[in-house]
Amino acid sequence: MEIKAAQQLKILMKQHFMELDEASRTKNKKIAWCSSVGPAELAMSLGFLVYYPENHAAMLGSTRTAMDYIPVANANGYSPEICSYLTSDIGAYLRHETPLTKVYGIKEVPRPDVLLYNTNQCRDVGDWARFYGREFNVPVLGINTPHTQNEAREHVVKSVSKQLQDIVPELEKIAGRRFNIDEFREVLKLSRECSTLWDEVLDTASHKPTPLTFFDECIHMGPAVVMRGRKEANDYYRLLLAEMQERVAQNIAAVPGERFRFYWEGMPIWGKLRNMSELFARLKTPVVVSTYCNSWIFPAFNPDNPFDSMAEAYCSIFIGQDDTWKENYIADKVKRFAIDGILFHDARTCASNSNNRYGMSKRLSDKLGIPHLVINGDLNDLRCFSEEQTVTNIEAFVEQIEESHRENIRRY
Ligand code: SF4
Repeated sequence: MEIKAAQQLKILMKQHFMELDEASRTKNKKIAWCSSVGPAELAMSLGFLVYYPENHAAMLGSTRTAMDYIPVANANGYSPEICSYLTSDIGAYLRHETPLTKVYGIKEVPRPDVLLYNTNQCRDVGDWARFYGREFNVPVLGINTPHTQNEAREHVVKSVSKQLQDIVPELEKIAGRRFNIDEFREVLKLSRECSTLWDEVLDTASHKPTPLTFFDECIHMGPAVVMRGRKEANDYYRLLLAEMQERVAQNIAAVPGERFRFYWEGMPIWGKLRNMSELFARLKTPVVVSTYCNSWIFPAFNPDNPFDSMAEAYCSIFIGQDDTWKENYIADKVKRFAIDGILFHDARTCASNSNNRYGMSKRLSDKLGIPHLVINGDLNDLRCFSEEQTVTNIEAFVEQIEESHRENIRRY
């Protein structure tokens, strides 16, 4: 069933890219390119429009053009084993092509005035930014955050807060204006609100039957990724939340006849979102919660303490924690969303966000008493994904769950 708010989503995303295109052509505003959980709010408070290469790369994935571009980056020295967001995005740039042309009539990606990144998610974002820094001859400002910081947490957050403060003078120079802490507080306040609203939208999926699935969420998370910190994103999530609450009140199911409920761990397979969505609908088994879509919830943002709280929020993202923390996080979601099975997507080119590789899947199944299935694939490189094999495995997994439910009923 179509989500009505999708019409507004299209308008909003178009506005985002047209604004960037205008700024790029007319120079009426400065543009910062930023990693997805980088210091975007800081740049916005200084008047930058923010463009996210990862979002552009996801477009390359969902339009299935990524495979045309990955070999171009490979030929320029970027390994096929590293992030296929990075390789497809750099390949498209080297070919002077972008899906923005077909969708919005935009000739090329907007030119950056500065590149920003945070290694809280992986090292690839830094290498990616430095590539464009060299290409466009613009400054690259990085926040360096170590992973699995639990034991050194306090020191890491302090260091990140200091690093955020240290890039302000550089950003001021590029922006041509002074930093104003009240403007920063305001952006952070809006970002925090966006995060809360998005969290509320995602939480409606705890209802049985779920009003939306992971595959809907991958589409509707767009404003939380690229427009957090702006009022328009919050207005959008109010609209979407009202629609989902209405569905909950009327028991309208995203997947009619819902039988089982799944958790999706890891990256989406962008080029197969629709196929996967149809498969799980046919199996009457919606994927109702995921680590990925929850990654744009930042409860720590606090406008009264902007630098420290931003550091805390961006150090707290799932991907940066150790396995014990991650397992507790997933266990909580499994309970709240009444999950029957966990799908681990082992994305070939994203080691940082493939959490099955060090025994977590088995540990969680043992601890929670629910089965898991590992799907071998990739976020953008469909050459790493066998659809036929995956469909067979998922069908068998659902049958196995069905059989064990029958067994339980027979027993009790
Ligand atoms: S987290 Fe994975 S998909 Fe995202 S930028 Fe890093 S390597 Fe690429």
